[in-house]
Amino acid sequence: QLTQLILQKRYFTSTNYGNRTCLSKIFLPTTKYISNIKSKQKHEQEENIICESYRLMIRAGLIRRSSSGIYSLLPLALRSLDKIERIINFEMTNIGAQKLSLPTLLSANAWKQTGRWKSAGSELFRLKDRKESDYCLAPTHEEEITQLVAHEIASYRQLPLRLYQIGKKYRDEMRPRCGLLRGREFIMKDLYTFDTSEEAALRTYEEVLFAYKNIFNKIGIPFVIADADSGNIGGTKSHEFHFLSQAGEDLILICSNCGYSANEERAYGSLPLTKQAENGTNKEPIFNFGISKNNRLIICILGSGHVLNIFKLRAAANGNSFENIQITKDLKDILNNNYNEIDIYVDNTFQTNLLDLETLLSNKLIDENIYKLIYSNKHLVTIHHGDIHNTSPGDGCPICSCSTNNFYPLIGHNAIEVGHTFLLGTKYSEPLKATFAPETSQSMGDLGLIQMGCYGIGISRILAAIIESSHDEYGIIWPSSVAPYRVCIIPNSDESLIQQTTQNLFDLLTSISHELNDEVLIDDRTSLSLGYRIKDSELVGYPWMIILGKRFLESGRVEIHERSTRKILNVKFDEIKNIFL
Ligand code: ATP
Ligand code: MG
Ligand code: MG
Ligand code: MG
Repeated sequence: QLTQLILQKRYFTSTNYGNRTCLSKIFLPTTKYISNIKSKQKHEQEENIICESYRLMIRAGLIRRSSSGIYSLLPLALRSLDKIERIINFEMTNIGAQKLSLPTLLSANAWKQTGRWKSAGSELFRLKDRKESDYCLAPTHEEEITQLVAHEIASYRQLPLRLYQIGKKYRDEMRPRCGLLRGREFIMKDLYTFDTSEEAALRTYEEVLFAYKNIFNKIGIPFVIADADSGNIGGTKSHEFHFLSQAGEDLILICSNCGYSANEERAYGSLPLTKQAENGTNKEPIFNFGISKNNRLIICILGSGHVLNIFKLRAAANGNSFENIQITKDLKDILNNNYNEIDIYVDNTFQTNLLDLETLLSNKLIDENIYKLIYSNKHLVTIHHGDIHNTSPGDGCPICSCSTNNFYPLIGHNAIEVGHTFLLGTKYSEPLKATFAPETSQSMGDLGLIQMGCYGIGISRILAAIIESSHDEYGIIWPSSVAPYRVCIIPNSDESLIQQTTQNLFDLLTSISHELNDEVLIDDRTSLSLGYRIKDSELVGYPWMIILGKRFLESGRVEIHERSTRKILNVKFDEIKNIFL
């Protein structure tokens, strides 16, 4: 680290300030600076920018667009990314996860074995080598790591195992958006865990959730953990970590009473039909089934906000009480049962002509098997239309409403998904034969399937999401944990007293604590006006800016600007250290 520090100082120093870090030597093309020279390019870059974080990342010289959804990360962005990664590395090491690096270019073989070569659809970047073999650019690494572990693990003695990596992922997103928020190339931390039993995997899951909370607490932006679990059969668990933000594409429903939160998109295992229709992924009809107390089969055909529909559905099935209705999605379960009557609820976001079964079938809104079931058994079918979604006062919290019989509404918030945890069970270990010899077994040669979990954090997305959550009209407001530099000193002139004091200040701050060691920067571009450099510093968003100007020569006091509050303190040189200690 020392050599790194020395190297960095040698490259970034100017003659006036010896080996101290100076802005004149750093590649930081803020557009304020660029605008004098290359204003045309600036406008090209800023055109079509709809998110403030994206505009700020361009203007503050953090990223440049290469092509749709693909960006170059410039030095200051990389410094912030490094800090996010350090926080993550610390917490991963803390739970015994080891870092490795898997290839980005993946053979299709394992993907064909798990069925994802097909199901991944057009989001997968596919390519062929010179022998015409199929490859893809990794969008995620479950197949690759399971295959690796399957080859190396033979016995329970080698488990548990926790492996993670930080690297680039590729997804040919339908709509790349807002710079790093939704890229086609992006940086992800992905952790995979391997346990011998479901209970052990569940304990691992809880440990990782705890580590994730630490990570997001340290980053310092408020976050919400949303239940992304269907709560139905299967026993898999999933949570999403979100920053609440208008720019987010997800809708999180939060209970005003107990804080329960769920992702509308994931809570019932599928995208709302309206969203699917929008992005063209509507290949199969989406249903939720419920069986009511008096053995009525309830089929809910989903429109937007289908979590809400389910609560309505429960209420409808049970005389306005939310209890005693089982939600199931297993078609076999449905087909093997006899029901007295069938209620079909069609969300009012659909066209109003969907009033009979044939139209539902021809619009692919009802499964053919269900259709046959209904006809073969001559069930009494009632189609309820349009009244699922519109009941007031809104939608109920499943926890509070169930336990108290009072109605607590869920409030929708736009949010950015920054992390996702998932208990996988044997979803990948089964097709890829990741097995182990257990400690105790019935007969020789009995093998257990490894219980897995996977856990992602969108590192490059977090960078943009932080800015989306933390900026003002002047620029970025970095939480100090991940600011590219923490302190920017601006000497107002080349006068020798100012220069000398700047050097002393730099030396003082960098030696005050280990934490500020590599965090101080001198804006030595004295050919630019003070006002210009102050604006530039506010745009980039260093948490602290210290100005050594005329006032210092007159009164011996320096101006310390706090970026988050925009407060200015006039402080004697000797007192500066008290602020940063
Ligand atoms: P989204 O719903 O936003 O498409 P996802 O659910 O497909 O994300 P996961 O497969 O859960 O994403 O990947 C783990 C994490 O990677 C996400 O929580 C997110 O933070 C990040 N991520 C996913 N897709 C992108 C992308 N296109 N650009 C940047 N980060 C992404
Ligand atoms: Mg996605
Ligand atoms: Mg998602
Ligand atoms: Mg996800």
